[in-house]
Amino acid sequence: MPMAPEHPRVLILGGGFGGLAAAKALKGAAVDVTLVDRTNHHLFQPLLYQVATAGLAAPSIAAPIRHILRGQRNVTVLMGEVVDIDLAARSVTLAEGGVLGFDHLVVATGATHSYFGRDDWATHAPGLKTLADAQGIRARLLEAFERAEGSTDAAERAALLRFVVIGGGPTGVEMAGTLAEIARHTLQGEFRGIDPASAEILLLEGGARILAAYPEALSASAKRQLESLGVCVRLGAKVVGIDADGVDVEREGVRERLPTRNVVWGAGVKASPLGALLARAAGIDPDRAGRVPVTSDLSLPGHPEVQVIGDLAALSIDGQAVPGIAPAAKQMGQHAARNVIARLRGQATTPFRYRDYGSMATIGRHRAIGVIGGMRFTGLLAWWLWLFAHIVFLIGYRNRLVVLMDWASQYWTMQRHARVFSPRDEAP
Ligand SMILES: Cc1cc2nc3c(=O)[nH]c(=O)nc-3n(C[C@H](O)[C@H](O)[C@H](O)COP(=O)(O)OP(=O)(O)OC[C@H]3O[C@@H](n4cnc5c(N)ncnc54)[C@H](O)[C@@H]3O)c2cc1C
Repeated sequence: MPMAPEHPRVLILGGGFGGLAAAKALKGAAVDVTLVDRTNHHLFQPLLYQVATAGLAAPSIAAPIRHILRGQRNVTVLMGEVVDIDLAARSVTLAEGGVLGFDHLVVATGATHSYFGRDDWATHAPGLKTLADAQGIRARLLEAFERAEGSTDAAERAALLRFVVIGGGPTGVEMAGTLAEIARHTLQGEFRGIDPASAEILLLEGGARILAAYPEALSASAKRQLESLGVCVRLGAKVVGIDADGVDVEREGVRERLPTRNVVWGAGVKASPLGALLARAAGIDPDRAGRVPVTSDLSLPGHPEVQVIGDLAALSIDGQAVPGIAPAAKQMGQHAARNVIARLRGQATTPFRYRDYGSMATIGRHRAIGVIGGMRFTGLLAWWLWLFAHIVFLIGYRNRLVVLMDWASQYWTMQRHARVFSPRDEAP
C-alpha cells in the first residue's frame, strides 16, 4: 500500500520565472512541493538574444533548477515534459512515462512562438525562446559571414549578408541592433573577401511603430537609435512568405522579394499547449493567444485547487491586461504560493495585484529606452539602467560576475567572445 503523503502535495509545472518564484515562496511551508520542468535549467530569457548574438555563453544566463532550490528541503525537482492534466483525478502525465498526483497545482509552462498558422516558416525563420534556439540562431548568423567569405557568386553573397529580423518587439529590436554592431564593429578586419560592414540588417514590423507597448515618443526614439546603428526599419511591412531563399513582404500594396539566408522570427507568441488543455477541462475558451483566462486570485474557473500563472495566464485588472513579462510572472508565482497557504489554513484567497515597476528595452551600445516610475529614459542613461537591472535580476552570484566581466570586456574591445560554434548539423 502506498504511504499517505505527510503533507499536502503542491505540484508546480514549469521552472521559469513564475514556477520558480512559487516554489521559493513555499519555503518553510508544511507542504511537499514537486517542481517539474522539461529542461534541467531555469533560463533568464531577457538575455537570450545575447547568446544568439555571441555576446554571452549559455551557462551565463541559465542555472540548474535543482541547484537553485538545493537548500529548500520541502522541494523535489523532476525533469520531465508534462503532456496531460487530469483535473478529476488530480494528476498529470509525463511524456517520459509516469503520473504525478497533486492536492494543489500551479501551472507555469509559459509561452512559445506563433507563426500565425504558418508553422512551415519555422524551419527558415527560427524564433528565440530556448537555449537551443539561441545556439541555433548564433550558428546560422556566424556561418552566413563564413560562407559569404568563401562565395564567388555576387547574388549568393548578397543573400548571405542580408539579415532579416521579423517583428519590432523587444526581441526583434535587440537582435537587429546587435547584428548591426557585429557587422560594423565585432568582425572588422577579420575577413579578406567581404566587408562585414556592408551587411544589410532589416527589421520588418507589420504595425505602425516598433516597441508598441511603449509611449509613442519612445518608439520613435528607438527607431532613430536603431537607424543610427545602420538598421533599416520598415514599418507597415507584412510578411506573406518565407522560404529557404528569402522573404516576401507586402508594404503599401506593393509586394517585394528579399533574397536572404538569414531570417529571425520575433513576431508572435502563443501560450504553451497546456493552456488549451486546461481551458477545455474547465469548460472555458482560451484567449486568442491560447492563454487561460483566470479568476482574480489566479485560479482556473471552477477549480480553486489549480492556479495558472505567468505567460500562460490571461488576466486584466481594472481593464488593464497584466503583461507577459518576467516581473509579472514572478509576482504571480509569489501570489499563487500565498493563496495555496491561505487555502491550507482554511482562509480566503486574495485577488492578485500587479505592481508595475517599469520596463526597458535595449537597442545597442549606449542605446535603449525605458519607463521607470512614470519617468521616461532614452539613450545612454536608459542603457546604463538596463545593464544594471539585468545584472541585478540574473540568478546566481557567479552568473552576475561572469556577465559583468564579459560586458566590461565587450565594452572596451567591441569583441563578442562566444563566437565559437559547430557547423549547424552538429549544433546541439
Ligand atoms: C527572447 C525573450 C526576451 C524577453 N525579454 C524580456 C525582458 O527583457 N523583460 C521581461 O520582463 N520579460 C522578457 N521576456 C518575457 C519573459 O521571459 C516571460 O514573460 C517570462 O519568462 C514568463 O515566465 P513564465 O514562468 O510564465 O514562463 P517561462 O519563464 O517561459 O517558463 C516556463 C517553463 O516551463 C517549462 N515548460 C514548458 N512546457 C512544459 C511542459 N509541457 N512540461 C514541463 N515543463 C514545461 C519551460 O521549460 C520553462 O522552464 C522575454 C522573453 C523572451 C522569449
